[in-house]
Amino acid sequence: MTRQGLLIVISGPSGAGKGTVCQGLLQRNKELCLSVSCTTRPPRPGEQHGVNYFFVDKTTFEQMIANNQLLEYAKVYDNYYGTPQKYVEEKLAAGRDVILEIDIQGALQVKQKYPQGVLIFLVPPSLSLLKERLTNRGTDSAESIASRLKCVCDELSNTGRYDYLVINDTVENAIDQVEAIIKAEKCRPSRF
Ligand code: 5GP
Repeated sequence: MTRQGLLIVISGPSGAGKGTVCQGLLQRNKELCLSVSCTTRPPRPGEQHGVNYFFVDKTTFEQMIANNQLLEYAKVYDNYYGTPQKYVEEKLAAGRDVILEIDIQGALQVKQKYPQGVLIFLVPPSLSLLKERLTNRGTDSAESIASRLKCVCDELSNTGRYDYLVINDTVENAIDQVEAIIKAEKCRPSRF
């Protein structure tokens, strides 16, 4: 029988570098799968439907909720975000490890449904660095940056609900640490 894959959730304040760390993880580990979320947020320049997100309207998203097609969902900054359930279930059943890059509300829903899921919280080394990263990214307005920074303090107070905390001082170190967590989690007796 195929052993069930590992469900790995990566959360953290925007600008903590979740996207970069996840892309690095995928490049190093070709067998990892990244779940593509659905969102009602409009695409940012360069974002592609089906690659970064499935961009859908509010009615479509609400239909997905009603049809139980989402493993979890949340409203973040006035937009809906959610994880398509079928993709994740199929990959896990086939023994593939799946990464979800989602916010804390979603992470806690995942833990309820999949207690064996591994929750990792990624933090930037400092708040000033976070502001610098968000500004340099150039994709968010000053207003949006201010509102995102305001949410960060709340988010940081929830790190105790995660299984692991990884400080993103350098991307390489952060990826090394996430890989070490994945390796260790696979050695838990309960997974055999
Ligand atoms: P962004 O708009 O910057 O791409 O994402 C905003 C926030 O939504 C980030 O914290 C991101 O992790 C979170 N997010 C992205 N996809 C999902 C999802 O499917 N579910 C939940 N709960 N949060 C998500």
